[in-house]
Amino acid sequence: MNEYKEMILVVEDNPQISNFITYALKSEGFSPMTAGTAQGALSILVSQHIDLILLDLGLPDFDGMEVIKKVREWSEVPIIVVSARDQDKEKADALDAGADDYLTKPFSATELMARIRVALRHLSMLNLTQTQPTLKVGDLAIDLEKHAVTLKDKPLHLTPMEYNLLSLFFKNMGKVLTTQYILKEIYGVGYGTDTQALRALMAGLRRKIEEVPAKPRYIMTEIGVGYRLVDV
Ligand code: CA
Repeated sequence: MNEYKEMILVVEDNPQISNFITYALKSEGFSPMTAGTAQGALSILVSQHIDLILLDLGLPDFDGMEVIKKVREWSEVPIIVVSARDQDKEKADALDAGADDYLTKPFSATELMARIRVALRHLSMLNLTQTQPTLKVGDLAIDLEKHAVTLKDKPLHLTPMEYNLLSLFFKNMGKVLTTQYILKEIYGVGYGTDTQALRALMAGLRRKIEEVPAKPRYIMTEIGVGYRLVDV
């Protein structure tokens, strides 16, 4: 009965939404804390151990985006942005500022829990890549030490660029990667606008890893934002 309960900080100024989230978290065995302002959130973050942050972007004192930037100066704690703004640009900005994922209001408790589990799993996955070179989703496996990829236990021949792209997704399992972030990681600074090249690279990779490239099961497109490798 001594099971560890993950501490989740809910940063939300709307009491109704905050109560809904807190209730859902408690019933799933998490330990929630709440803050109604950005300042309140930051003072909790510097004094307590928090495992994950659910962050509303529209806060009364300052913008949630500023909270992400501040937290990222010292912490890698997963941040899921909870926002009423369903604009792609803001989602992408939040992700580029260092958020791990986003949820658009209104959302269900089930959806919320699924995202939280992915974000927490991503963190343990990150630790895993440091000790264990082989990672797997479905029939797809990657050996980060040998730079080898297999599909259904058969070696898959990828170009170096395709490999770099796929390994980037594995290292960020479950997380939405923005087009800008991928471009920077794959092509380096200065190539940040060549979305066409990325689309071509992605199409090539999908032809090799997906059974039906038009209906991908591994790397999903997040329209207007980027891509995500899903846990299948
Ligand atoms: Ca708000």
